[in-house]
Amino acid sequence: MTTSSAPTTATVRRTADAPPLITETDLPPARHFIDGKFVDGSTDRVIDVVDPSTESVIAQVPAGTPEDVDRAVASAVAAKDAWARRVPKDRSEVLHAVADRLAEHTDLLVRLESANTGKPLAVSQDDVAMTIDTFRFMAGAARATTSLAAGDYAEDHLSVILREPLGVIGVITPWNYPLLMAAWKIAPILAAGNTLVLKPSEQTPLTTLKFAELVADLLPPGVLNVVTGYGPGVGSRLAEHPDLNMIALTGSVPSGRAVARAAADTLKRVHLELGGKAPVVIFEDADLAAAATSLRTAGFWNSGQECGAACRVLVHESVAERFVEQLVGEVSSLAVGEPTSGEDIEVGPMVSKGHFDRVTGYLERAKKEGLRAATGGGPLGGPGYFVAPTVLVDVPEGAEAAREEIFGPVITVETFAHEEEAVRRANDVPLGLSASVWTENARRSHDIAARLDFGTVWVNSHLVLAGEVPWGGFKGSGYGRDLSIYALDDYSRTKHVMHNHGR
Ligand code: NAD
Repeated sequence: MTTSSAPTTATVRRTADAPPLITETDLPPARHFIDGKFVDGSTDRVIDVVDPSTESVIAQVPAGTPEDVDRAVASAVAAKDAWARRVPKDRSEVLHAVADRLAEHTDLLVRLESANTGKPLAVSQDDVAMTIDTFRFMAGAARATTSLAAGDYAEDHLSVILREPLGVIGVITPWNYPLLMAAWKIAPILAAGNTLVLKPSEQTPLTTLKFAELVADLLPPGVLNVVTGYGPGVGSRLAEHPDLNMIALTGSVPSGRAVARAAADTLKRVHLELGGKAPVVIFEDADLAAAATSLRTAGFWNSGQECGAACRVLVHESVAERFVEQLVGEVSSLAVGEPTSGEDIEVGPMVSKGHFDRVTGYLERAKKEGLRAATGGGPLGGPGYFVAPTVLVDVPEGAEAAREEIFGPVITVETFAHEEEAVRRANDVPLGLSASVWTENARRSHDIAARLDFGTVWVNSHLVLAGEVPWGGFKGSGYGRDLSIYALDDYSRTKHVMHNHGR
């Protein structure tokens, strides 16, 4: 592909005299939340919580232990029968009250999320709005469950299908949407009548602890428990715990494997929302300008740290040059900066030094492999873990950057010649979370969407979500569904009761 020579690159906007996003009084208690109260951990070990825009430590939370997990699980077990017995209307009212409480504290939650993750304020605002909507949707959905009609399906035998909670569920969440991913689990788990123990990412525990603080008086003690700490130790104890009925993880593929292995001995259910590497298949008849504008958001939302990010373009060779020009125009004008430096910031830092090193490592290796940055291509100056929004071109089939989840502000562009080739190459990755197809041809839009092996396929769009529709992957992206009534199903079990009424 031929595009112009030296790549342009972004600069990081900083506002030295901007007031800090949070003060000491905004922070949640830095303790575990067990049995309705904040409690000390079993050791004094702590984990530093870092603001990735400034690299400063903003809090410390307990490095939990298996003993802390056991205490939280015991509390969730003790609470489960009473919560399960509540009728849907009662649970629904509690969830609506949670949503109201979160809405009252939107501004605080937005600032806290941006301080802990470096997210642009617009992203945190969207996260909090969707968090509230998730609780409202599940509050309604819990009251309107459906199933097979009761009736005689065997002669003289009346069958009734009961929907029951699973019991106690362990939840492990990632750092990219700390509050939102917690909400995607907590809301359906509680709506379905379960209790839970949640471990937030060790890097981003603040909004989850704040959530617990804000709703502590709304939930019966033990229904929600939060234990902070690392994957090995806290997460692994949850996965293996004999008193849990399910473990639900949103995270990376290696963590998914570890959790599924640890869960195997107790045969508890496993719910995995793992990584993604979303192809964006653009045909020669597509609205190229609309695709480029959409990718400005869909490729770089949350600084590309998004499991559904539009990160892998496959464009028909006849329009590739024109499309890359438009895409580079969009990407090179993205506003990069600290969350404090304006509501218009679109891209923030990577969440941590470790992740920054991982993303820049991918970019260095891509350059060595002969890929070319049409814009961006490397780190931006510190402090903070900023990476330039990047478009990589001259990408051969099978290149590492186009196969593995980089999870940063990077889009690769490959070209294809035929429809068959586009489908084959789009599907030729181990992950299957989401994809999009861009065409004005109705036959093609249905056909290609059906043949793409991904849990969500958008047509002429990318990364649009709604509470009513399911989210989850195929293949290496895991199994189980978040959002929608399908999530409620995942956190419930069906029981068949059959009455012999013959004489
Ligand atoms: P991660 O796997 O490193 O961590 C996720 C959570 O798992 C953390 O709380 C971590 O402490 C815990 N963990 C790590 N090792 C564990 C172990 N052995 N046992 C139990 N728990 C363990 O993931 P991350 O870096 O925080 O998040 C990014 C990943 O999450 C990406 O791969 C992304 O695609 C994925 N993700 C997927 C979705 C989705 O809906 N499919 C949504 C958001 C993020």
